[in-house]
Amino acid sequence: MFTEMLTFLRQFGAMGLAGLALATPLMATAAPAAFDVVPLGVEGGVVEGSTSAWYITRKGQEQGLACDAGTLVPGIRAAIAKGGFSAGTPASEVLHRRIGAYLITHPHLDHVAGLVMASPDDSAKPILALPEVNAALAADYFNWSAWPNMGDRGKPPLLKRYRYEDLAAGGDPVPVAETGLTVTAYPLSHGGALSTAFLIRAGDEAMLCMGDTGPDAVEYSVRLETLWQAVAPLVRAGRLRAIVIETSYPDPRKDSELFGHLTPSWLHKELNRLAVLAGGKDRLKGLPVVIGHIKPAIDGAGPVVATIARQLAEGEGPPVRYVIAEQGVGLHF
Ligand SMILES: [Zn+2]
Ligand SMILES: [Zn+2]
Repeated sequence: MFTEMLTFLRQFGAMGLAGLALATPLMATAAPAAFDVVPLGVEGGVVEGSTSAWYITRKGQEQGLACDAGTLVPGIRAAIAKGGFSAGTPASEVLHRRIGAYLITHPHLDHVAGLVMASPDDSAKPILALPEVNAALAADYFNWSAWPNMGDRGKPPLLKRYRYEDLAAGGDPVPVAETGLTVTAYPLSHGGALSTAFLIRAGDEAMLCMGDTGPDAVEYSVRLETLWQAVAPLVRAGRLRAIVIETSYPDPRKDSELFGHLTPSWLHKELNRLAVLAGGKDRLKGLPVVIGHIKPAIDGAGPVVATIARQLAEGEGPPVRYVIAEQGVGLHF
């Protein structure tokens, strides 16, 4: 079903959706890619097996990190089959050695289920998150009731497979395991719940991996504004290589039924606010904006994805390059 949908989308795209790329490898600029991203899960719930997870490496590094882990092993298998990882790579090699750390945006199931399920066969590694998120993982999942305690906090005995590392909101960049990457966490507002945007840096280059978020205007929040202010200098300098962000629902949708998520029109508004801070819409020209967390209908994601893709391409946002992520197909920024 998903393959049919993507075929449909490619044909649809070929019919003239300017500015829309569909899970094809691309580069932001003529500069060499700084990041490799393998989407391990790209949907926003209802169906398990492809919920939010992004494997991110610094170009040339063997070990990277997983930004969210809603789906791990099925996403790794899909990526081995589709070229996101080299053919013949054992899934265990990816899980045990290539994923050096987890960044968790928030503790909703569609962002952590893969981590919990794979944990009995995982290697020791850190989980980096805002303190409230780590506390929720320890209290709600690794608590000897939902699951054995694989962490180094919470209800004893502590199996200590995972080491929680608390990140300070907006703090100095923190090195992530042996990945050659650093991370800074920025809080997001997600239907009143806490979520996180991770600013990931490889030397002077940066990308954003964002968890679920509603628009500031609907959330009565300034968290996206704060994030856009933080990354605007990177946009001005041409150092922001990509934004991974959600668009859960197509338009039209009532603000009262967003439940802490974005639509294409709200994403356009938020990117326009970033453009103002960065010096104008043209500053975002060609910037890859990778779309995930589309909430599929239970009978198939195709029509929803097609609608969101069209609405993103047609709307009033800056001239970014939207990329509808496909599970397992690698991207280069
Ligand atoms: Zn979610
Ligand atoms: Zn969520």
